[in-house]
Amino acid sequence: MRFLSFRLLVPLGTAWVQHGDSLPRVFELDIGQAKEIRVPGPGGEVRRGVRLLQVEESRWPNWHLAEAPGHAVLRAAEVQVEVGSTRATLWARPFEPPRLVDGLRLYVESTHTWATTPQLDPLVGMTHHVKMSCVAEGMPWGPPELRFPIARFRWQANTYGNTWGALVPYNKLYYHRGEDFGAIPDELEVVASLGGTVIQSPLPEGDGDSNHLRIRHASGLEFAYYHMNLETIPAGLTEGVVVGTGQRLGRTGMTWDGPRSQVNDPHLHWGVFRDGQPLASYPFALEAYLRDYPDSVLAVAGGYHYAMPGEPVELDASRSVARPGDASSATAGCSMMDARSTRRRRWSGRIGPGCTAKSCVSGLMMEVRIATTCNSAYGTGSGAGAWVQAGSTTHPCAGAGRECRCASGPGCGARPHP
Ligand SMILES: [Zn+2]
Repeated sequence: MRFLSFRLLVPLGTAWVQHGDSLPRVFELDIGQAKEIRVPGPGGEVRRGVRLLQVEESRWPNWHLAEAPGHAVLRAAEVQVEVGSTRATLWARPFEPPRLVDGLRLYVESTHTWATTPQLDPLVGMTHHVKMSCVAEGMPWGPPELRFPIARFRWQANTYGNTWGALVPYNKLYYHRGEDFGAIPDELEVVASLGGTVIQSPLPEGDGDSNHLRIRHASGLEFAYYHMNLETIPAGLTEGVVVGTGQRLGRTGMTWDGPRSQVNDPHLHWGVFRDGQPLASYPFALEAYLRDYPDSVLAVAGGYHYAMPGEPVELDASRSVARPGDASSATAGCSMMDARSTRRRRWSGRIGPGCTAKSCVSGLMMEVRIATTCNSAYGTGSGAGAWVQAGSTTHPCAGAGRECRCASGPGCGARPHP
């Protein structure tokens, strides 16, 4: 389904947008350095000087990953910039949307530390303090015909989700380079976000890994689709074949390391690349979803968080996104959570009674407390803890009688999508 009114917010006719015009401009800066950025805008070229002022990375404790330096992992980076004469704060963190600053929609792709600190899959090739990307105000993030990669998907029905830069709840120190969309295996169609040439295919025998299809669009963008079950991929979808935008590629699956093995967290991993380098995927995914689906608000309350029993977990709903004009009817999400056994190293399902959302205050911040009753279920000793995920399952939670409660209206956390 195409949601036409969103197109009015991004006043572009697809006919005159050239592929090169709609690609985000990617650039790196060191602290104190400035660059003139020129990008095409709806009314002509937009030029702005962008200066990087300061970078402050923050970590939080993690006793689960033995290789985490100092038992801590990166949580966020606060990036101060000056655009023209406007100072602004940008964030590198999970589920962060682009921010509008003086005519530019800006995104922090990564910081140097985040990209290169020892990890499973480092982001190589960064030589400056911060890598950023941008498009002009009023321009789409990528070609405007870009489709969300799953048909009949609904954001709030996503029970497993992870995003660009986030820590993956896995037994390795692993910051994610793509988007994970949870889905029941073999149920939902995976479609080509953009048409192009298949440059990698698991057909006919399977790739022995995560059954990875990769398609290169004429713009140079490449889109990768992982974890599909081989038998759902149409025969003939092999390297060199040309596919159209929206063409069915298969169904969401659960393949990992060869066999169907993602029993507890089946999902589609969707990655975006350019010139072989991964690009921040969340802005593309967010915008494609808003084009294809009618949701008035996408509730986001953070990402994965490792928490000790008894520890309050603060969920920040300020990254939720509302369509412009719809913010007054938005409710931020208070979500159910998943917990992961730290001892048995496998998903152990939803947090049960006693570990559910205990309090959810109105406004931007919600608080969830992992009750001590989780302790016996999820491990014992000083290393015991649980992973919680919040925000990808949305409940309209303004109803009376629920402990989990958010106010309707402005201030509930959702902000218009720039
Ligand atoms: Zn993934």
